[in-house]
Amino acid sequence: MSRLLVLILLVVAAVWLVRRALRGAAPQERRGQKPASADELVACAHCGVHLPRAEARVSAGGLYCSEEHARLGKR
Ligand SMILES: [Zn+2]
Repeated sequence: MSRLLVLILLVVAAVWLVRRALRGAAPQERRGQKPASADELVACAHCGVHLPRAEARVSAGGLYCSEEHARLGKR
């Protein structure tokens, strides 16, 4: 009987830990629903092509679509 009790306590503890972990991640997701900077489109400083900020290469003087354009710099 006591083994069953321990098992139930372990399950409850596991569920609590999972829920706590999920609650810890949730506020960041809610923050991400706003127009996040990662989804924002930016123009390549060299060729002007638009791409998500998350995929842009940040180099001195601007944002670029590729390593090649980051190396070439502003046009
Ligand atoms: Zn480019």
